[in-house]
Amino acid sequence: MNTQWEEFTENIKKLYEKDFVALHEPTFNEKEIEYITDCVKTGWVSSVGSYVTRFEEELAKFVGVKRAVAVVNGTAALQIALKVVGVQVNDEVLIPSLTFIATANAVSYLQAIPHFVDVNVETLGVDSFKLEKYLNEIAELRQGELYNKQTNRRIKALVPMHTFGHPCMLDELSALCDKYNLVLVEDAAESLGSYYKGKHTGTFGQVSAMSFNGNKIITTGGGGAILTDDEALADYAKHLTTTAKVPHRWEFIHDEIGYNYRMPNLNAALGCAQLEKISDFIKQKRRLTEFYERQLANIEGMQLFKEHVNTQSNYWLQVILLDKQYDLDKVLCFLNDQGIMARPIWKPLHELEMYKQCPRMNLLVTEKLKRIIINIPSTPTNEV
Ligand SMILES: *Cc1c(COP(=O)(O)O)cnc(C)c1O
Repeated sequence: MNTQWEEFTENIKKLYEKDFVALHEPTFNEKEIEYITDCVKTGWVSSVGSYVTRFEEELAKFVGVKRAVAVVNGTAALQIALKVVGVQVNDEVLIPSLTFIATANAVSYLQAIPHFVDVNVETLGVDSFKLEKYLNEIAELRQGELYNKQTNRRIKALVPMHTFGHPCMLDELSALCDKYNLVLVEDAAESLGSYYKGKHTGTFGQVSAMSFNGNKIITTGGGGAILTDDEALADYAKHLTTTAKVPHRWEFIHDEIGYNYRMPNLNAALGCAQLEKISDFIKQKRRLTEFYERQLANIEGMQLFKEHVNTQSNYWLQVILLDKQYDLDKVLCFLNDQGIMARPIWKPLHELEMYKQCPRMNLLVTEKLKRIIINIPSTPTNEV
């Protein structure tokens, strides 16, 4: 690491006016306090209240889907999304290995099996061409349903993920799902405000999941949402996430084993305030990308990851790709020592103990990317 690197870290600290710059922090002002205060004053802080409905309506409108169902977190949203599209015990679900653990866990909660697929360098998301070749080899359609010839299990769904806000190859993946009769469920947890050919991510899947955890582009504290254009699936998702209670003025009748996954009103109040600022956050993040581009121009052997053609990224987390000459751990050590919080990408899920036995294709690109990706501070700021 040299003087250029030191200049780089100094400029980040100057930008944020801090000695230690976090990776991503939530941004609040009076609006959040106003809505939260109002929510507390009404007494409706829990699983019923007007902010939940309002958050759902405004979110659906922003994304451009018919319905949004707000839940306690993004993992729960994914679990229910997979359940309502018909993923059953022992089904396989195709997911990238290069994703946050929630994607695989949601599959496991349904006693289904994650089947890991590779990504490409251009999008950091599922590589449709490689997947198609792979499915041609290992899978076959039996009476219209896709089966893994090696395990004899049904392959029910594909869950691509939009890594750090960058949309994956949605057209190609949608076509692939049509060809093989797979249900497309998008893990859009990181991509609120990201578009593919002008259409918002999360509108391509039959159902999609979003997250509003504290580190995401907007936050409800903890929270998530199930998105869909299918009214029947939305109704079912709402039913399942509200303990499957049959509406009645006083009786407690539940018609299946449901979940207590409804987003509390207090969290939705925070979400309503945050959603009003999403366009500002995106503008600020795009300006931050330009800032980093200028900063990195002087440093050899690294590249700021930019949105792919035909996509518009929310740039949720800024990504640097390192050349071979760098040792990932050394770079991370240097940046963190200098007061710049930097992180590697997730350990690929197929390398984790509980997922080692899961079926997978060769994951050469995943294994390459895990050694060269770092995330750097990405909190939106007005200063740039
Ligand atoms: C954040 C995230 C989720 C959901 O996380 P929660 O913390 O449960 O809200 C799911 N998938 C990905 C890729 C994520 O980044």
